[in-house]
Amino acid sequence: MIEKLKIKKFSNNVNTPKSIITGGAGFIGSNLVDHLINIGHKVVVLDNFVSGKKSNLAQHKKKDLKIVKIDISKGKNLAKYFKGADYIFHLAALAQIIPSIKNPKKYYKNNVIGTLNVVEGAKKVKIKKLIYAASASCYGTPKSFPTSEKDKIDLRHPYAVTKFIGEEIVMRYASMFNMPNISLRFFNVYGPRLDILSQYSAVMGNFISQKKNKKPLTVVGDGKQTRDFIHVDDLVSALVKVIQSKSVNKIYNLGSGKRTSINTIAKLFGGKKKFIPFRPGEPKNSQANILKIKKEINWKPKISIEEGIKKLLKR
Ligand code: UDP
Repeated sequence: MIEKLKIKKFSNNVNTPKSIITGGAGFIGSNLVDHLINIGHKVVVLDNFVSGKKSNLAQHKKKDLKIVKIDISKGKNLAKYFKGADYIFHLAALAQIIPSIKNPKKYYKNNVIGTLNVVEGAKKVKIKKLIYAASASCYGTPKSFPTSEKDKIDLRHPYAVTKFIGEEIVMRYASMFNMPNISLRFFNVYGPRLDILSQYSAVMGNFISQKKNKKPLTVVGDGKQTRDFIHVDDLVSALVKVIQSKSVNKIYNLGSGKRTSINTIAKLFGGKKKFIPFRPGEPKNSQANILKIKKEINWKPKISIEEGIKKLLKR
């Protein structure tokens, strides 16, 4: 199923929208692939399959989805993959904070050079919109809640730095070359296919595997810290609304607009808790101000945290 370097042209009619998704085999990317194919897009996934999985995409037919195994931080000329595309969703990146502190160069290469290669490629072809997955980590330890796009940038670790440089590149290309780029600052995304295997999995990923293995839920610190959790279905619906909108050259927060404590998340999962040491450098609270995206894109999240976790546990 994986085609190296060469993409066969989709044989379909010229009016079918075509989307490129870098990192399309990962958690968020594969959920986006499902939705885009569902609404009639032809999709090309570019993924290096380091954290992405073929199994996340196995349900799709070749006529709807092409998969290219490529490392975008090495692929110098990405334009050839972008030809004929209407939309590019650039989601490929290395995630997580602690590994980024241990290996900043690797993060720089993947997240900064990777993004540079994507915008360079996109600049050479005519697309309708390029969406960049930025990160709420750019706010560091915010002073005001909910935090708006105008709040102070406070970069605390290499992951935040590299994702923010990526955003700067995407936005500078938008203004310098009149590109239709949008940056979305993702808050804490959860849902089906969330990574549950790695040492540094997100809290929900850990809780899913702990619950499955009948282990206590590891709660960091006193568990009173809060995060803005957005269900991947809500996030994907925002991405689709953004490409359908006229908005270009803008930055939007993308979260639920609500904050939930880790203790509440643990309660919703149910079962025993085990308190583990506080992680230095982590923000105590995080909550997105989503007024801008609600107003300009006419989107709003629909899935409550109670409903979202219930859905996760049913699987
Ligand atoms: N967390 C937790 N237990 C875990 C993993 C994380 O209590 O097993 C906490 C973590 O300390 C943080 C919150 O959950 O306060 C969200 O952590 P995650 O790594 O999911 O996202 P981020 O810190 O990047 O917002």
